[in-house]
Amino acid sequence: MRYLFNEKLADRMLLSVDEKNNLNKLYEELHCLLNKAANTNDTNELSEIDKSIEVLELEMQKQWKFEPSKNKCSYWYQIPGCTCPKLDNAERWGTPNRIYTVNCPVHSYLFGTK
Ligand SMILES: [Zn+2]
Repeated sequence: MRYLFNEKLADRMLLSVDEKNNLNKLYEELHCLLNKAANTNDTNELSEIDKSIEVLELEMQKQWKFEPSKNKCSYWYQIPGCTCPKLDNAERWGTPNRIYTVNCPVHSYLFGTK
């Protein structure tokens, strides 16, 4: 079985085969959502994808046996079409601080300006 995630880390976290398979399903879902985002410019659809990815990423953190935390989410700014700064947000990983671009097609809904 070829996993879509770092299997060494999964072994270090003592994930069972079942847990790895569950985690893999979540990664498949993530790739599916990222793919969907890459194929649309619709801001309503992109905002729904953004919300789904956040829920999914918190679920992934749980499956990894980490304490789920929004502060440690990093897929939101990697959604295709997102124009929010990548490096600045990567540097803020683990903190509650996020930097958005107000007219980002994926995240403008957060400002009610779409
Ligand atoms: Zn964005």
